[in-house]
Amino acid sequence: MSQRVNLDLKKELFLYGAKEWNQCFQCGNCTATCHTTENGFFFPRKTVRQVLMGLKKSLQTNIDPWLCTYCGDCSRTCPRDANPAEMMMSIRRYLISVYDWTGISKLFYKSKTLEVTSIIVLSIIVMVLYLIYTTFPSGDSSQWIGPDGGALINKMAPWQTIHLGDWLMAGALVFLVITNIFYMWYKIIYDDKSLKVGFIDYLKPFSKLVKLINPDVKYAKCDEKKLTTYWVLHAFLALSYGTLFAIIVFFLDWFQTDTVYPFLHPQRILGYIATIGLTVGIIYFYTNRTLKNMENSKYSHFTDWTFLILLFFTTLTGILLHVFRIYGLPQLTYVTYMLHLMVLVPMLVIEVPFSKWSHMIYRPFALYFAHLKKMVIEKSKTIPHQPQYN
Ligand code: SF4
Ligand code: SF4
Repeated sequence: MSQRVNLDLKKELFLYGAKEWNQCFQCGNCTATCHTTENGFFFPRKTVRQVLMGLKKSLQTNIDPWLCTYCGDCSRTCPRDANPAEMMMSIRRYLISVYDWTGISKLFYKSKTLEVTSIIVLSIIVMVLYLIYTTFPSGDSSQWIGPDGGALINKMAPWQTIHLGDWLMAGALVFLVITNIFYMWYKIIYDDKSLKVGFIDYLKPFSKLVKLINPDVKYAKCDEKKLTTYWVLHAFLALSYGTLFAIIVFFLDWFQTDTVYPFLHPQRILGYIATIGLTVGIIYFYTNRTLKNMENSKYSHFTDWTFLILLFFTTLTGILLHVFRIYGLPQLTYVTYMLHLMVLVPMLVIEVPFSKWSHMIYRPFALYFAHLKKMVIEKSKTIPHQPQYN
């Protein structure tokens, strides 16, 4: 692939968090250390070299940053403190903005002010819509209080109406995510003219996907033993988040009830387990990032904090909403319901397609594309034996 050297690439990546790239003197120690390196995939030096040489086009089609498990072994052993692990994460952020055809991710990653302002504006819009909806035409709030003095949320905001809003929002988010994944495929697979991928080839990687996705196996090879705890809590947090997301989008009628069920009812048990997953995960990742006690938490981009803070307030308002509801405090329940929506909606609208959250979607697809690429290269008997800087 012939391409122009882009002299501004390094400066651009600086905004995504890659700050020490200039220290690298290409000794190759990081590649020797990395447990992910294998034939045809030379972590992380190939990526570092693309950055140093200003190979923007190659970098945009590079899958390696998605395969990196962010164990930090390379940064720990780098003789120049070039922090290659953080460079891999910075390039992930950069790639998120490359895949996003709307260009909004790029703006958010480059400007803290713009991201925070967008969150605040979206919060205010949600608040105004909530106040309009609850004031006109059903402004008689006495109907929203049950005979026992508790809140009747479904009288104030029927789950059907909330569901309609959920579906409209989920539809827009799914559209953005799918089109971004399509663009990712275009960059990684379609645009690589050396690959001849047939329809059947796309089905083959599924047989090995579980093995590829299981990061536990990869973490077991890392020097940093705390990573197993990190991975378990990361998985617990993601599962809890995914469960609550699925409940809100698909099963709100089962979840948003005016009846307070007994403690051991499946609705409450599921809600409590997911809330524990979110709370423990948030505390763990917040502590890690604050104490910087692991290689992968030494540097935090502002978007890492934004996601964690939005998740924290969404969880906190969700817990308070539940407590106020079961203890029969309707006024506090309704105010908290509004506050909950004011953080939940910006978190979904901004984080899912345009920021940190999207790595949950891109990473599995990157693993799939990497395996597909490897299989196709093996099939055509052209496995590279030296790093390829195409
Ligand atoms: S990032 Fe560090 S370990 Fe890797 S090649 Fe550069 S100087 Fe060597
Ligand atoms: S952070 Fe770990 S997996 Fe990623 S490039 Fe460095 S050594 Fe390899």
